[in-house]
Amino acid sequence: MFFKRDKSVTRERNAHCISRSNIDPDALRVLYRLANSGYTAYLVGGSVRDLLLGRQPKDFDIGTDARPNEIRRLFRNCFLIGRRFRLAHIVFGRKVIETSTFRRQPDARESENGIYQTEDNTFGTPEEDAKRRDFTVNGLFYDIKTFAVIDYVGGLKDLEKKVLRSIGDPCIRFREDPVRMMRAVKFAARLGFTLDRACRKALLKHHADILNASIPRVCEEVYRLFTYNASCPAFKLFWEFKLLGDLLPEVGTYIDATGGEKSPLWKYLASLDADPQNADLTNGVRTACLYYPLFLEQLRKEESRSPHGRVNKQHVARLVLHPLAQSLHVPKATLFTAIALMDVQRRFAESPQKSRGHRFLYHPAFREALAFQRIVLTAEGGDTTLINEWQALYDEEVARHAPPPRRDDGQPDEEANEPRDGEEDQPPRGRRRRRRRKPHSDSTSADPKAQHRDARTDNPVTVTEIGPEPVRTDGCD
Ligand code: ATP
Ligand code: MG
Repeated sequence: MFFKRDKSVTRERNAHCISRSNIDPDALRVLYRLANSGYTAYLVGGSVRDLLLGRQPKDFDIGTDARPNEIRRLFRNCFLIGRRFRLAHIVFGRKVIETSTFRRQPDARESENGIYQTEDNTFGTPEEDAKRRDFTVNGLFYDIKTFAVIDYVGGLKDLEKKVLRSIGDPCIRFREDPVRMMRAVKFAARLGFTLDRACRKALLKHHADILNASIPRVCEEVYRLFTYNASCPAFKLFWEFKLLGDLLPEVGTYIDATGGEKSPLWKYLASLDADPQNADLTNGVRTACLYYPLFLEQLRKEESRSPHGRVNKQHVARLVLHPLAQSLHVPKATLFTAIALMDVQRRFAESPQKSRGHRFLYHPAFREALAFQRIVLTAEGGDTTLINEWQALYDEEVARHAPPPRRDDGQPDEEANEPRDGEEDQPPRGRRRRRRRKPHSDSTSADPKAQHRDARTDNPVTVTEIGPEPVRTDGCD
């Protein structure tokens, strides 16, 4: 193994800020049951890092010395997944607490040409488990028995210094799993950390290895760069370390040709980050924001070529997004949404009163189009009067279709539906009334108004296939 044997640092309860009140109650339940059954049980990985930084963790992972079958025996709601290395998924409703037995990197005999084979994991000690992780700040443990933080990899010091450092030689670690390079960029941008010198050098040396990584994993990581309101710094690092040029050369070339750091592309990503609905935005909207400046450039080219200056925008959008479909196998629904958003933009140029606004409200991507148009206008410092009119009309329409209020016993409140003074009577029973469809909205949204059809999975926009059909839809949308 290439790791030096060094001692762990233990930070006692009174010397760190992790409180059990900030840990998910179901994760605590799993930790306690493992500990009370005589096993070591630690909170591990990103959750410890985020809790120490005072951030809300996205998920809570657990490490233990209990073997997968022993974990299964303790929890009826446990499912074992994975073939080579079995992980326990302990399920609480829609929540999954991932619980894994401590494991280690394969040792030198198992490696080929100095590159470790990560698939061949075997059980190990907590120290070995910490050292197989990617970055020091991701290698910390929180012990439920003593409430102490255990650090085998120097993560506590790096957290204080806000440095992202690879565990072990980054040249080896990045070659063994090139997706770690994308994770490095993601964490540095999201946490506002600096990459240490070794990581920066390794990134510049091995960036092209990203092309050897599995496409669905890469696609997933690309879309993760958009999260946590940090897409602008994340894509800047992505571009700076040439990963963007490897994966999305058309975007890299555009940035280089339009001023690098000063490229107009950054303002669209900054506006996306500043959007109050950022967490609810779909990958269709994100894709449209990233490719919008390229779309504008292509549009100008096509318009100058066309004798009447009139160009089919849907065609231009398809042309611009074609390389993305090819390289990352992005799900078709995401691409079609992004194409539709660029195409329908012109509808917002007129007041909804003038342009048969009610029909447009029922476009399956209307809600996303509204969000996208607001992001574009904010980036360009445009006038938001018309977009506010559209928003008001949409809100009104959604309110009109809201389900009737429910009584405490869960039954619909009949009285609430009775006509009030001055309101028209309902049509008599038996007479058929044409039902109006509800405006579509994004089902991934936390917005209570947004309980309608998922615009990304059922998108009737009439666009033809972009180039050869992507071989795989990987669910990274
Ligand atoms: P997030 O907040 O995005 O979930 P995270 O650090 O929890 O960040 P996960 O992808 O959930 O990231 O992974 C959980 C932990 O597993 C990481 O903190 C890290 O310790 C380890 N890990 C994940 N991916 C790798 C990898 N490619 N190589 C080594 N360790 C990894
Ligand atoms: Mg996580």
